[in-house]
Amino acid sequence: MELLRNVSLAEFTTFRIGGKADYFCVARSVSELQEALAFARERALPVFILGGGTNVLMGDDGFRGLVVRIEICGIEWGGVVRVYAGENWDSFVAETVARGLWGLENLSGIPGTVGAAPIQNIGAYGSEVEEVIDWVEVLDRNTGDIQKLSRDECGFGYRDSIFKKSEGKDFIVTRVAFRLRKDGAPNLKYKDLAEFFSGKKLPTLSDIRRAVLEIRARKFPDLKTHGTAGSFFKNPIISQEKFKELKKRFPELPGFLFKSGVKVSLAWILDKICGLKGFEKNQTALWKDQPLVLVNQGGASAREISAFADNIARLVREKTGIEIEREVNIV
Ligand SMILES: Cc1cc2nc3c(=O)[nH]c(=O)nc-3n(C[C@H](O)[C@H](O)[C@H](O)COP(=O)(O)OP(=O)(O)OC[C@H]3O[C@@H](n4cnc5c(N)ncnc54)[C@H](O)[C@@H]3O)c2cc1C
Repeated sequence: MELLRNVSLAEFTTFRIGGKADYFCVARSVSELQEALAFARERALPVFILGGGTNVLMGDDGFRGLVVRIEICGIEWGGVVRVYAGENWDSFVAETVARGLWGLENLSGIPGTVGAAPIQNIGAYGSEVEEVIDWVEVLDRNTGDIQKLSRDECGFGYRDSIFKKSEGKDFIVTRVAFRLRKDGAPNLKYKDLAEFFSGKKLPTLSDIRRAVLEIRARKFPDLKTHGTAGSFFKNPIISQEKFKELKKRFPELPGFLFKSGVKVSLAWILDKICGLKGFEKNQTALWKDQPLVLVNQGGASAREISAFADNIARLVREKTGIEIEREVNIV
């Protein structure tokens, strides 16, 4: 394992923002990860675990500690498919579809690694990864213990899990096990997908993957040309009472029952209530085709992105009384 000094983090994130890490290394095996943690422990350095860098906003001042990029790879196919954390998420999904395994097709095209998928319980097009996770193997960064957490123990919620809370923040995901099915059926409950296949014959597994990729390509900026971490904010989940109150003022506000409340479309709020679609300031903008997505148009700093996001949150609060939460991890 090679330890590097003063490494620019901007190159390792899709926002293309971030100062330097004092120390940086790549872990290609669990033992390299343990070695990196031991190095940091001996020097009392904070450790930041990085996957594909697609859901982080790194600070302009960088990271005073060790950044470990997880590249532990390998897939064990079987009744339960066990995948190491550093595998690329979408390459893995493509392979499951090619093998005729149902369960991940609606999550096609999400960038990042397999190890990060449980962290925020990635979701898209009417599906969340928790639905097919069997267990998650973790390494405790303090004790070095390796253990398997059942799906229930992961405490999954909407873009949430134990790994984002104090109980789970010391866990590093090393492997994820998925229970996929040979005899699945299309999940077309999400509006865009239902519309895509409306009037057509029942889609196959690969039809669904193709459709999801096509829809995503229309909505998200191309990572080759724009810096972004995808949706910067979560869609708010509000109480039924609050939803009724907003519906009186904004009768067309889309919302549907979700877990403990009503999930409302923040993109709609930003566009129709706040009039912010395509809003831009300095080098930061809300993406024209999906206002939840913040883009670095070139040269934006983390401070500028944060100030821009705070401004958006303030406007939403003033217009609707809703406190929106960030989805992106701020480092
Ligand atoms: C264009 C675009 C579209 C996106 N679309 C979606 C979408 O549809 N749905 C969705 O849910 N997300 C979406 N995202 C967000 C992102 O792709 C996911 O959150 C993804 O799972 C992040 O993976 P990563 O490997 O890049 O994680 P990183 O960004 O590297 O890390 C994210 C967080 O997870 C932690 N982490 C990473 N790996 C590990 C590990 N092995 N163990 C412990 N902690 C770890 C990091 O410390 C950090 O806090 C999108 C992002 C972009 C840029």
